[in-house]
Amino acid sequence: MILKEHKFINIHTHNPNSCADNISILNYAPNISFPDKAYFSYGIHPWDIENHNIETINFDRYVSPNNCIAIGETGIDKTISTKLYKQVMVFEKHISISEKYKKPLIIHCVKAHSEILELHKIYKPTQAWILHAYANSIQMTRNLVDKGLYFSMGMRELSRSKGKKDFIHSIPLSKLFFETDNSKQSIQEVYIEASKKLNTAIDQLIEITTINFHHCFNFSI
Ligand SMILES: [Zn+2]
Repeated sequence: MILKEHKFINIHTHNPNSCADNISILNYAPNISFPDKAYFSYGIHPWDIENHNIETINFDRYVSPNNCIAIGETGIDKTISTKLYKQVMVFEKHISISEKYKKPLIIHCVKAHSEILELHKIYKPTQAWILHAYANSIQMTRNLVDKGLYFSMGMRELSRSKGKKDFIHSIPLSKLFFETDNSKQSIQEVYIEASKKLNTAIDQLIEITTINFHHCFNFSI
């Protein structure tokens, strides 16, 4: 049974349609028409860095509205041609915006979890860092768990889990979120898959992610 007072939480989506009837954080993009009062996140994706002059972006304008509840997605992607130092510099800018506005960071990270961990150690942020589309080794997961990071998974990441001894089971339920990212699936389908993989009832997952949301975002939904 799904608790009436709780809703599915979609921590990261690029699709405005997935916002209906759920709690969703829509990733801002200039060409998206926003549903009224939808929660959104604002940031520069590592893939987009070359299209922006980070110095001239008026972050205040985008991130100060109350319905901008997170900063990102931003991060580091080692599979792209943009130089690492440049990506780190842009990511550091987002860390400072996240701390200034007291809004969590939604992080895109590809083959750069050690760098993210290192930056977390240096900056000791007060805001939550949420690694979206997370999949990695058990050891790296444990290192990130030790630093208190949060983890979000979609269908793609959940389907990589093959047994009881992989990374998914190293993530405490208290650090877990789910997402649809740019996929066509619904967040309900992702929760159903997670329920199977984690052997935890859907209503329990809804309750857990609702509590996690309160801890991260510091307001009630
Ligand atoms: Zn995304």
